[in-house]
Amino acid sequence: MTLQIRFDNSYARLPDRFYARLAPTPVAAPGLVALNEGLARDLGLDPAALKTPEGLAMLSGNALPEGAEPLAQAYAGHQFGGWNPQLGDGRAILLGEVRASDGKRYDIQLKGAGPTPFSRRGDGRAWLGPVLREYIVSEAMHALGVPTTRALAAVTTGEEVFRETALPGAVLARVASSHIRVGTFQFFAARQDTEALRLLAEHVIARHYPQAEGPLGLIRAAVTAQARLVAHWMSLGFIHGVMNTDNAHVGGETIDYGPCAFMDDYHPSRVFSSIDQYGRYAYANQPQIAVWNMAQLASCLLPLIAEDRNAAIEAASEAVDAFAPAYEGAYLARFRAKLGLATEAEGDAELIEGLLARMAALGVDFTRAFRGLAEGTAAAEFPDPSAWESWAADWRARLALEGRTEADARAAALQVNPAVIPRNHRIEQAINAAVAGDYAPFLRLNRALATPFALAPENRDLAAAPAPEEAVRRTFCGT
Ligand code: AMP
Ligand code: MG
Repeated sequence: MTLQIRFDNSYARLPDRFYARLAPTPVAAPGLVALNEGLARDLGLDPAALKTPEGLAMLSGNALPEGAEPLAQAYAGHQFGGWNPQLGDGRAILLGEVRASDGKRYDIQLKGAGPTPFSRRGDGRAWLGPVLREYIVSEAMHALGVPTTRALAAVTTGEEVFRETALPGAVLARVASSHIRVGTFQFFAARQDTEALRLLAEHVIARHYPQAEGPLGLIRAAVTAQARLVAHWMSLGFIHGVMNTDNAHVGGETIDYGPCAFMDDYHPSRVFSSIDQYGRYAYANQPQIAVWNMAQLASCLLPLIAEDRNAAIEAASEAVDAFAPAYEGAYLARFRAKLGLATEAEGDAELIEGLLARMAALGVDFTRAFRGLAEGTAAAEFPDPSAWESWAADWRARLALEGRTEADARAAALQVNPAVIPRNHRIEQAINAAVAGDYAPFLRLNRALATPFALAPENRDLAAAPAPEEAVRRTFCGT
């Protein structure tokens, strides 16, 4: 069985200054941990062929399939607000692009594939922990309906990676509608390379927003996509953790699963990332940060908008200002659905806030409270059930307003409030077991997360909140 991939590499046709061409660095002994067979088939790849030594060689970077044009992309970025003119793929190599069964173009990238000219002080490698974490969370996000990069495969390298200690090395084969970030635009803007900006903008429009007209159309489309994305995150209690501009995808996908986390007990100021000392990327700050990132994108495109700088700024600002109403609308729509509401009414924002404020005051589990609303068991999630009951009275009054029965509302809410999310303590348990050679918890968690709105009875434990001693409060980039 030979591995056939029909590459069509549009990024590699952009000028040389967009990337560095280089092949992955081979590894000692590739071992398959997980292959996403459904995704492989969607991409026109034969899962059986991917499992052969030839397939494994490709997934680990040991051999290049025909038609691959491997490269590391150049980009810059603001990290925690501080400017870095040169980041780039320091440990990821794009093999090429394929067209999937949906007719769209997808990148196949190997993360942890060895050093590149953009590695700075890093080793170009990844260890098993973050590879499994990204596999679990990105596939869970996909199953939840959130735009995201995907995981095609996780492969161990048979080599050690040194962080604070020696850890098993691994490579993640990642799939994305592109890997173009706000930071990609910033890279060229910082170099005043207007020609590259024009080419990049055309490339992004063709790839992500074919309806968009010109640079302003691109900004508007990216702003809308980002507003919807962040509203979706908020509705699931998801905290990205490193919303740097180099991790802001221009097509509106969730990218870069470093110290991200789904909240257990709800609080708007919740932060998990060990490096986020000041809570810049706290749960409730995410919409503001997304606007800031979009403003950076807009500022890069100014030279393409109008000759007159003031006119360009005015038009770009107006495009970025569309974030707030787009976000508000998407946020309210998501949370109305979580409450099982079918219509819009004055006071809905207050109703939603009323529930969240009670949850925050009592440390109620975010996912379980909303699932409980759908299952009729929410009161039990509140240490003081009267807090739920007082809110539920308002909720029932609101349901009466649209003539909906509670049973109907709950049935609708069941479709959007997940029973199971990738909880931090479960991810950590899966990683610890995998490092000790047992992949069963990782595989089980993945399987349960593939159908987050329907919990099999044998997976009940995965829907439970962590016991106090199990709760994980800090997450690490842990590259
Ligand atoms: P991240 O925090 O994962 O978004 O990465 C920020 C930057 O650091 C990117 O340019 C990465 O390619 C680079 N980077 C992260 N880990 C490594 C590593 N182990 N070796 C080389 N570069 C890395
Ligand atoms: Mg990154």
